[in-house]
Amino acid sequence: MNYNTYTLRNFSDLPQVKSSLSAEKINEIRVVGNVLPFKVNNYVVEKLIDWSNLSNDSIFHLTFPQKEMLSPKHYREIDNALNGSYSKFELNAVINKIRYELNPHPAGQKDNIPLLGSYKLSGIQHKYKETVLFFPSHSQSCHAYCTFCFRWPQFVGVNDLRFAMNDTSLLINYLKEHPEVTDVLFTGGDPLVMSAKKLKEYIDPLLDADLPNLQNIRIGTKVLSYWPYRFINDEDADDLLRFFEKIVNSGVHLAFMAHFSHPKELKTTEVETAIKRILRTGAVIRTQSPVMNHINNSADIWAEMLRLQVNLGCIPYYMFVARNTGAQDYFAITLEQAWKIFRDAYKQVSGISRTIRGPVMSAYPGKIQILGVNEIGSKKYFNLRFIQGSNPDWVGKPFFAKYNPDAIWLTDLEPIDGKDKFFFERNI
Ligand SMILES: *Cc1c(COP(=O)(O)O)cnc(C)c1O
Ligand code: SF4
Repeated sequence: MNYNTYTLRNFSDLPQVKSSLSAEKINEIRVVGNVLPFKVNNYVVEKLIDWSNLSNDSIFHLTFPQKEMLSPKHYREIDNALNGSYSKFELNAVINKIRYELNPHPAGQKDNIPLLGSYKLSGIQHKYKETVLFFPSHSQSCHAYCTFCFRWPQFVGVNDLRFAMNDTSLLINYLKEHPEVTDVLFTGGDPLVMSAKKLKEYIDPLLDADLPNLQNIRIGTKVLSYWPYRFINDEDADDLLRFFEKIVNSGVHLAFMAHFSHPKELKTTEVETAIKRILRTGAVIRTQSPVMNHINNSADIWAEMLRLQVNLGCIPYYMFVARNTGAQDYFAITLEQAWKIFRDAYKQVSGISRTIRGPVMSAYPGKIQILGVNEIGSKKYFNLRFIQGSNPDWVGKPFFAKYNPDAIWLTDLEPIDGKDKFFFERNI
Protein backbone atom coordinates (compact mmCIF):
# COMPACT_ATOMS: atom_id res chain seq x y z
CA MET A 1 0.00 0.00 0.00
CA ASN A 2 1.23 3.51 -0.79
CA TYR A 3 1.34 5.81 2.21
CA ASN A 4 -1.17 8.66 1.83
CA THR A 5 -1.70 11.12 4.64
CA TYR A 6 -4.64 13.35 5.39
CA THR A 7 -4.47 16.51 7.46
CA LEU A 8 -6.60 19.63 7.90
CA ARG A 9 -5.65 20.60 4.37
CA ASN A 10 -7.16 17.61 2.57
CA PHE A 11 -9.16 15.37 4.93
CA SER A 12 -12.48 16.60 3.55
CA ASP A 13 -11.52 15.06 0.18
CA LEU A 14 -11.74 11.57 1.68
CA PRO A 15 -14.77 9.71 0.30
CA GLN A 16 -15.44 8.30 3.79
CA VAL A 17 -15.53 11.82 5.25
CA LYS A 18 -17.78 13.09 2.45
CA SER A 19 -20.32 10.31 2.91
CA SER A 20 -20.28 9.95 6.72
CA LEU A 21 -19.69 13.41 8.20
CA SER A 22 -22.01 16.42 8.19
CA ALA A 23 -20.75 19.88 7.26
CA GLU A 24 -21.06 20.80 10.94
CA LYS A 25 -18.88 17.88 12.03
CA ILE A 26 -16.29 18.74 9.38
CA ASN A 27 -16.17 22.30 10.70
CA GLU A 28 -15.65 20.98 14.24
CA ILE A 29 -12.71 18.90 13.10
CA ARG A 30 -11.31 21.97 11.40
CA VAL A 31 -11.68 24.14 14.52
CA VAL A 32 -10.18 21.65 16.96
CA GLY A 33 -7.57 20.49 14.46
CA ASN A 34 -6.13 23.98 14.49
CA VAL A 35 -5.07 23.43 18.10
CA LEU A 36 -4.50 19.69 18.52
CA PRO A 37 -2.42 17.62 16.12
CA PHE A 38 -4.33 15.98 13.28
CA LYS A 39 -3.01 13.52 10.76
CA VAL A 40 -4.39 10.19 9.56
CA ASN A 41 -3.42 7.90 6.72
CA ASN A 42 -5.13 5.51 4.32
CA TYR A 43 -4.52 2.43 6.52
CA VAL A 44 -6.19 4.06 9.53
CA VAL A 45 -9.06 5.35 7.40
CA GLU A 46 -9.65 2.15 5.41
CA LYS A 47 -8.76 -0.66 7.79
CA LEU A 48 -9.25 0.62 11.34
CA ILE A 49 -12.13 3.09 11.43
CA ASP A 50 -15.67 1.75 11.10
CA TRP A 51 -17.35 4.60 9.22
CA SER A 52 -20.81 3.14 9.72
CA ASN A 53 -20.64 3.53 13.51
CA LEU A 54 -18.51 6.58 14.23
CA SER A 55 -19.97 7.62 17.57
CA ASN A 56 -18.66 4.38 19.09
CA ASP A 57 -15.52 4.11 17.06
CA SER A 58 -12.43 4.31 19.25
CA ILE A 59 -10.00 4.82 16.40
CA PHE A 60 -12.06 7.71 15.04
CA HIS A 61 -11.89 9.34 18.48
CA LEU A 62 -8.21 8.49 18.74
CA THR A 63 -7.26 10.19 15.48
CA PHE A 64 -9.94 12.74 14.49
CA PRO A 65 -10.27 15.88 16.65
CA GLN A 66 -13.68 16.15 18.35
CA LYS A 67 -15.49 19.29 19.46
CA GLU A 68 -15.54 18.24 23.14
CA MET A 69 -11.75 17.96 23.21
CA LEU A 70 -11.58 21.73 23.70
CA SER A 71 -13.36 23.65 26.44
CA PRO A 72 -16.38 25.60 25.11
CA LYS A 73 -14.42 28.82 25.69
CA HIS A 74 -11.39 27.71 23.68
CA TYR A 75 -13.63 26.26 20.99
CA ARG A 76 -15.46 29.58 20.59
CA GLU A 77 -12.20 31.54 20.46
CA ILE A 78 -10.86 29.44 17.58
CA ASP A 79 -14.20 29.24 15.79
CA ASN A 80 -14.50 33.05 15.95
CA ALA A 81 -10.91 33.55 14.85
CA LEU A 82 -11.31 31.21 11.86
CA ASN A 83 -14.56 32.80 10.75
CA GLY A 84 -13.57 36.37 11.51
CA SER A 85 -11.28 38.77 9.72
CA TYR A 86 -8.12 37.74 11.56
CA SER A 87 -4.76 37.94 9.87
CA LYS A 88 -2.68 34.76 9.84
CA PHE A 89 -0.52 36.32 12.55
CA GLU A 90 -3.51 37.08 14.80
CA LEU A 91 -4.93 33.62 14.24
CA ASN A 92 -1.63 32.01 15.21
CA ALA A 93 -1.48 34.13 18.35
CA VAL A 94 -4.88 32.81 19.45
CA ILE A 95 -3.92 29.22 18.65
CA ASN A 96 -0.62 29.46 20.50
CA LYS A 97 -2.20 31.07 23.54
CA ILE A 98 -4.62 28.16 23.80
CA ARG A 99 -1.86 25.61 23.29
CA TYR A 100 0.07 27.08 26.20
CA GLU A 101 -3.06 27.08 28.33
CA LEU A 102 -3.41 23.37 27.62
CA ASN A 103 -0.14 22.88 29.51
CA PRO A 104 2.02 21.43 26.78
CA HIS A 105 4.95 20.50 28.99
CA PRO A 106 3.63 18.73 32.05
CA ALA A 107 5.46 16.67 34.63
CA GLY A 108 8.66 18.73 34.47
CA GLN A 109 9.88 17.06 31.29
CA LYS A 110 12.20 19.92 30.57
CA ASP A 111 13.91 19.46 33.94
CA ASN A 112 15.59 16.21 33.03
CA ILE A 113 17.96 17.56 30.41
CA PRO A 114 21.38 16.14 31.15
CA LEU A 115 24.77 17.79 30.79
CA LEU A 116 27.93 16.61 29.08
CA GLY A 117 30.52 18.82 30.70
CA SER A 118 28.73 22.14 30.43
CA TYR A 119 27.00 21.20 27.17
CA LYS A 120 23.22 20.77 27.41
CA LEU A 121 21.99 17.62 25.69
CA SER A 122 18.50 18.74 24.82
CA GLY A 123 17.65 15.60 22.82
CA ILE A 124 18.24 13.31 25.79
CA GLN A 125 16.27 12.74 28.98
CA HIS A 126 17.83 10.90 31.88
CA LYS A 127 15.31 10.61 34.66
CA TYR A 128 15.65 7.02 35.87
CA LYS A 129 19.09 5.62 36.62
CA GLU A 130 19.16 2.74 34.11
CA THR A 131 17.42 4.30 31.14
CA VAL A 132 18.16 7.21 28.84
CA LEU A 133 15.52 8.53 26.45
CA PHE A 134 16.84 9.69 23.10
CA PHE A 135 14.81 11.92 20.76
CA PRO A 136 16.35 11.70 17.29
CA SER A 137 15.62 14.86 15.37
CA HIS A 138 14.36 12.73 12.48
CA SER A 139 11.59 11.12 14.51
CA GLN A 140 9.57 14.18 15.39
CA SER A 141 6.40 12.94 13.74
CA CYS A 142 4.23 9.81 13.56
CA HIS A 143 2.36 7.90 10.85
CA ALA A 144 -0.87 9.33 12.26
CA TYR A 145 -1.46 11.48 15.33
CA CYS A 146 -3.31 10.54 18.50
CA THR A 147 -5.61 13.36 19.59
CA PHE A 148 -4.66 12.85 23.26
CA CYS A 149 -0.92 13.00 22.70
CA PHE A 150 1.17 14.95 25.21
CA ARG A 151 4.05 15.11 22.71
CA TRP A 152 2.01 17.35 20.45
CA PRO A 153 4.03 20.56 20.91
CA GLN A 154 6.72 18.75 18.94
CA PHE A 155 4.42 18.15 16.00
CA VAL A 156 2.58 21.44 15.84
CA GLY A 157 5.76 23.47 15.81
CA VAL A 158 5.78 25.21 19.16
CA ASN A 159 9.50 25.57 18.65
CA ASP A 160 10.84 26.31 22.08
CA LEU A 161 9.06 23.26 23.41
CA ARG A 162 10.78 20.76 21.17
CA PHE A 163 13.41 18.30 22.20
CA ALA A 164 15.44 16.62 19.53
CA MET A 165 19.02 15.74 18.86
CA ASN A 166 20.95 14.91 15.80
CA ASP A 167 24.19 13.52 16.95
CA THR A 168 24.64 10.02 18.31
CA SER A 169 28.25 10.77 19.26
CA LEU A 170 27.06 12.99 22.11
CA LEU A 171 24.84 10.16 23.32
CA ILE A 172 27.78 7.76 23.16
CA ASN A 173 29.97 10.10 25.19
CA TYR A 174 27.20 10.47 27.70
CA LEU A 175 26.81 6.68 28.01
CA LYS A 176 30.57 6.31 28.49
CA GLU A 177 30.39 8.73 31.40
CA HIS A 178 27.33 7.01 32.85
CA PRO A 179 28.02 3.28 33.23
CA GLU A 180 24.82 2.91 35.28
CA VAL A 181 22.79 3.32 32.09
CA THR A 182 21.83 -0.06 30.58
CA ASP A 183 18.96 1.02 28.34
CA VAL A 184 18.59 3.50 25.52
CA LEU A 185 15.01 4.18 24.54
CA PHE A 186 14.54 5.76 21.12
CA THR A 187 11.44 7.85 21.14
CA GLY A 188 9.87 10.84 19.40
CA GLY A 189 7.30 11.13 17.83
CA ASP A 190 7.81 7.73 16.37
CA PRO A 191 11.37 6.65 15.53
CA LEU A 192 9.98 4.28 12.89
CA VAL A 193 8.98 7.16 10.63
CA MET A 194 12.71 7.10 9.84
CA SER A 195 14.03 5.15 6.89
CA ALA A 196 16.13 2.07 7.66
CA LYS A 197 19.12 4.09 6.45
CA LYS A 198 18.49 6.95 8.91
CA LEU A 199 17.83 4.58 11.76
CA LYS A 200 21.14 2.86 11.04
CA GLU A 201 22.93 6.21 11.16
CA TYR A 202 21.67 6.64 14.70
CA ILE A 203 22.07 3.09 16.01
CA ASP A 204 25.12 1.71 14.19
CA PRO A 205 27.58 4.06 15.95
CA LEU A 206 26.05 2.94 19.24
CA LEU A 207 26.73 -0.71 18.40
CA ASP A 208 30.19 0.08 17.02
CA ALA A 209 31.12 1.88 20.23
CA ASP A 210 30.80 -1.51 21.94
CA LEU A 211 29.70 0.03 25.22
CA PRO A 212 29.96 -2.56 28.00
CA ASN A 213 26.99 -1.06 29.85
CA LEU A 214 24.54 -1.04 26.92
CA GLN A 215 22.21 -4.03 27.30
CA ASN A 216 18.86 -2.98 25.88
CA ILE A 217 17.83 -0.85 22.95
CA ARG A 218 14.15 0.01 23.02
CA ILE A 219 12.12 1.66 20.30
CA GLY A 220 8.91 3.36 21.43
CA THR A 221 6.52 3.20 18.50
CA LYS A 222 2.95 3.08 17.29
CA VAL A 223 3.90 1.98 13.78
CA LEU A 224 2.25 -1.45 14.21
CA SER A 225 -1.09 0.28 14.81
CA TYR A 226 -0.77 3.05 12.28
CA TRP A 227 1.38 1.64 9.46
CA PRO A 228 2.20 -2.10 9.65
CA TYR A 229 3.32 -1.99 5.99
CA ARG A 230 6.55 -0.56 7.40
CA PHE A 231 7.55 -4.23 7.86
CA ILE A 232 5.79 -5.74 4.87
CA ASN A 233 6.04 -3.79 1.65
CA ASP A 234 7.51 -0.38 2.36
CA GLU A 235 10.50 -0.01 0.08
CA ASP A 236 13.04 -0.66 2.82
CA ALA A 237 10.97 -3.09 4.92
CA ASP A 238 13.45 -5.93 4.45
CA ASP A 239 16.45 -3.68 5.17
CA LEU A 240 14.79 -2.61 8.38
CA LEU A 241 14.17 -6.20 9.48
CA ARG A 242 17.73 -7.19 8.61
CA PHE A 243 18.95 -4.28 10.72
CA PHE A 244 16.90 -5.53 13.67
CA GLU A 245 18.60 -8.91 13.23
CA LYS A 246 21.96 -7.20 13.25
CA ILE A 247 21.16 -5.43 16.53
CA VAL A 248 20.01 -8.67 18.13
CA ASN A 249 23.07 -10.55 16.84
CA SER A 250 25.35 -7.92 18.34
CA GLY A 251 24.21 -9.20 21.73
CA VAL A 252 21.89 -6.31 22.59
CA HIS A 253 18.27 -7.00 23.54
CA LEU A 254 16.02 -5.20 21.08
CA ALA A 255 12.64 -4.29 22.55
CA PHE A 256 9.80 -2.88 20.56
CA MET A 257 7.70 -0.80 22.94
CA ALA A 258 4.51 -0.97 20.91
CA HIS A 259 1.66 1.36 21.63
CA PHE A 260 -1.73 -0.38 21.09
CA SER A 261 -4.87 1.47 22.20
CA HIS A 262 -7.60 -0.91 21.14
CA PRO A 263 -8.14 -4.57 20.07
CA LYS A 264 -9.11 -3.36 16.58
CA GLU A 265 -5.49 -2.46 15.96
CA LEU A 266 -4.52 -6.10 16.56
CA LYS A 267 -7.04 -7.73 14.25
CA THR A 268 -5.89 -6.86 10.73
CA THR A 269 -3.96 -9.40 8.68
CA GLU A 270 -1.38 -6.66 8.13
CA VAL A 271 -0.54 -6.25 11.81
CA GLU A 272 -0.39 -10.02 12.24
CA THR A 273 2.10 -10.33 9.39
CA ALA A 274 4.15 -7.39 10.64
CA ILE A 275 4.40 -8.81 14.17
CA LYS A 276 5.49 -12.22 12.85
CA ARG A 277 8.20 -10.62 10.74
CA ILE A 278 9.52 -8.54 13.65
CA LEU A 279 9.56 -11.47 16.06
CA ARG A 280 11.49 -13.57 13.54
CA THR A 281 14.39 -11.09 13.85
CA GLY A 282 14.77 -11.96 17.53
CA ALA A 283 13.34 -8.64 18.73
CA VAL A 284 10.77 -8.73 21.51
CA ILE A 285 7.52 -6.73 21.36
CA ARG A 286 6.21 -5.25 24.62
CA THR A 287 2.91 -3.41 24.60
CA GLN A 288 1.60 -0.33 26.37
CA SER A 289 -1.19 2.23 26.26
CA PRO A 290 -2.96 4.80 28.35
CA VAL A 291 -6.44 3.93 29.60
CA MET A 292 -8.83 6.60 28.33
CA ASN A 293 -12.42 7.61 28.12
CA HIS A 294 -13.86 7.22 24.57
CA ILE A 295 -11.01 4.89 23.60
CA ASN A 296 -10.58 1.89 25.87
CA ASN A 297 -12.38 2.59 29.16
CA SER A 298 -13.59 -0.93 29.84
CA ALA A 299 -12.13 -4.06 31.37
CA ASP A 300 -13.43 -6.21 28.51
CA ILE A 301 -11.58 -4.12 25.95
CA TRP A 302 -8.36 -4.48 27.94
CA ALA A 303 -8.84 -8.21 28.53
CA GLU A 304 -9.38 -8.74 24.81
CA MET A 305 -6.37 -6.61 24.02
CA LEU A 306 -4.18 -8.61 26.42
CA ARG A 307 -5.34 -11.95 24.99
CA LEU A 308 -4.77 -10.86 21.40
CA GLN A 309 -1.35 -9.45 22.24
CA VAL A 310 -0.18 -12.65 23.90
CA ASN A 311 -1.72 -14.72 21.12
CA LEU A 312 0.38 -12.77 18.63
CA GLY A 313 3.53 -13.25 20.71
CA CYS A 314 3.70 -9.81 22.37
CA ILE A 315 4.35 -9.18 26.06
CA PRO A 316 1.98 -6.79 27.89
CA TYR A 317 3.96 -4.11 29.73
CA TYR A 318 2.19 -0.94 30.97
CA MET A 319 -1.32 0.45 31.36
CA PHE A 320 -0.87 4.21 31.80
CA VAL A 321 -3.17 6.82 33.27
CA ALA A 322 -3.79 9.59 30.72
CA ARG A 323 -1.52 12.52 31.44
CA ASN A 324 -2.67 15.93 32.53
CA THR A 325 -2.32 17.82 29.31
CA GLY A 326 -4.12 18.75 26.11
CA ALA A 327 -7.62 17.34 25.87
CA GLN A 328 -7.45 15.74 29.29
CA ASP A 329 -11.04 16.44 30.32
CA TYR A 330 -12.22 14.50 27.33
CA PHE A 331 -10.03 11.47 27.91
CA ALA A 332 -9.58 11.41 31.69
CA ILE A 333 -11.08 8.78 33.93
CA THR A 334 -10.64 8.74 37.70
CA LEU A 335 -7.78 6.83 39.30
CA GLU A 336 -10.34 4.58 40.96
CA GLN A 337 -12.01 3.81 37.61
CA ALA A 338 -8.63 3.10 36.04
CA TRP A 339 -7.79 0.70 38.84
CA LYS A 340 -11.16 -1.08 38.50
CA ILE A 341 -10.63 -1.51 34.77
CA PHE A 342 -7.14 -2.84 35.38
CA ARG A 343 -8.25 -5.28 38.04
CA ASP A 344 -11.27 -6.58 36.16
CA ALA A 345 -9.16 -7.12 33.05
CA TYR A 346 -6.32 -8.75 35.05
CA LYS A 347 -8.80 -11.16 36.64
CA GLN A 348 -10.08 -12.30 33.25
CA VAL A 349 -6.76 -13.31 31.72
CA SER A 350 -4.25 -16.03 32.51
CA GLY A 351 -0.98 -15.41 34.27
CA ILE A 352 0.79 -15.25 30.91
CA SER A 353 -0.97 -11.91 30.24
CA ARG A 354 -0.41 -10.58 33.76
CA THR A 355 2.97 -9.17 32.87
CA ILE A 356 1.09 -5.89 32.46
CA ARG A 357 1.61 -3.36 35.26
CA GLY A 358 -0.81 -0.59 35.96
CA PRO A 359 -2.53 1.67 36.12
CA VAL A 360 0.61 3.80 36.17
CA MET A 361 0.95 7.58 36.39
CA SER A 362 4.12 8.78 34.73
CA ALA A 363 4.42 11.75 37.06
CA TYR A 364 7.07 14.22 38.18
CA PRO A 365 8.57 12.11 40.99
CA GLY A 366 8.34 8.86 39.05
CA LYS A 367 6.11 6.14 37.70
CA ILE A 368 3.49 5.46 40.34
CA GLN A 369 1.20 2.45 40.22
CA ILE A 370 -2.26 2.50 41.76
CA LEU A 371 -2.40 -0.80 43.61
CA GLY A 372 -5.97 -0.20 44.67
CA VAL A 373 -8.36 1.14 47.25
CA ASN A 374 -8.04 -0.33 50.75
CA GLU A 375 -10.65 -0.12 53.45
CA ILE A 376 -9.13 0.01 56.92
CA GLY A 377 -11.60 0.29 59.76
CA SER A 378 -14.34 2.39 58.20
CA LYS A 379 -11.98 4.51 56.11
CA LYS A 380 -10.84 4.16 52.53
CA TYR A 381 -7.31 4.81 51.26
CA PHE A 382 -5.47 4.69 47.97
CA ASN A 383 -2.63 2.20 48.02
CA LEU A 384 0.18 3.19 45.64
CA ARG A 385 3.69 2.12 44.73
CA PHE A 386 6.71 3.52 42.90
CA ILE A 387 7.65 1.51 39.81
CA GLN A 388 10.26 4.10 38.84
CA GLY A 389 11.57 6.97 40.89
CA SER A 390 13.69 10.01 40.15
CA ASN A 391 15.30 8.84 43.41
CA PRO A 392 16.12 5.12 42.85
CA ASP A 393 15.54 4.45 46.53
CA TRP A 394 11.79 5.09 46.12
CA VAL A 395 11.38 2.19 43.67
CA GLY A 396 9.16 -0.56 45.03
CA LYS A 397 8.04 1.58 47.94
CA PRO A 398 4.31 1.30 48.76
CA PHE A 399 2.49 4.24 50.31
CA PHE A 400 -1.00 5.44 51.13
CA ALA A 401 -2.97 8.50 50.10
CA LYS A 402 -6.34 9.78 51.25
CA TYR A 403 -9.20 8.28 49.26
CA ASN A 404 -10.54 10.74 46.73
CA PRO A 405 -13.09 9.32 44.30
CA ASP A 406 -12.63 12.29 41.94
CA ALA A 407 -8.83 12.15 41.75
CA ILE A 408 -7.52 11.84 38.21
CA TRP A 409 -3.83 12.49 38.85
CA LEU A 410 -1.19 12.35 41.56
CA THR A 411 -1.59 16.07 42.19
CA ASP A 412 -5.19 15.39 43.34
CA LEU A 413 -3.95 13.12 46.14
CA GLU A 414 -3.05 13.98 49.73
CA PRO A 415 -0.98 12.11 52.30
CA ILE A 416 -2.58 10.51 55.34
CA ASP A 417 -1.92 10.96 59.07
CA GLY A 418 -2.20 14.75 59.00
CA LYS A 419 1.04 15.17 57.03
CA ASP A 420 1.02 17.96 54.45
CA LYS A 421 3.55 16.34 52.13
CA PHE A 422 4.32 12.90 50.74
CA PHE A 423 7.76 11.49 51.60
CA PHE A 424 8.87 12.05 48.01
CA GLU A 425 7.92 15.72 48.05
CA ARG A 426 10.44 16.74 50.68
CA ASN A 427 13.29 17.44 48.32
CA ILE A 428 11.54 18.75 45.26
C1 LIG B 1 8.92 4.99 31.47
C2 LIG B 1 10.14 5.73 31.37
C3 LIG B 1 11.38 5.06 31.27
C4 LIG B 1 11.48 3.57 31.24
O1 LIG B 1 11.06 2.98 32.45
P1 LIG B 1 10.90 1.42 32.58
O2 LIG B 1 10.16 1.20 33.86
O3 LIG B 1 12.27 0.85 32.60
O4 LIG B 1 10.13 0.95 31.40
C5 LIG B 1 12.50 5.84 31.22
N1 LIG B 1 12.48 7.19 31.26
C6 LIG B 1 11.33 7.85 31.39
C7 LIG B 1 11.34 9.34 31.49
C8 LIG B 1 10.11 7.15 31.44
O5 LIG B 1 8.97 7.83 31.54
S1 SF4 C 1 1.96 7.67 18.12
FE1 SF4 C 1 2.74 8.20 20.18
S2 SF4 C 1 3.95 10.07 19.89
FE2 SF4 C 1 2.69 9.77 18.03
S3 SF4 C 1 0.83 10.97 18.37
FE3 SF4 C 1 0.39 8.91 19.12
S4 SF4 C 1 0.93 8.91 21.30
FE4 SF4 C 1 1.86 10.72 20.35
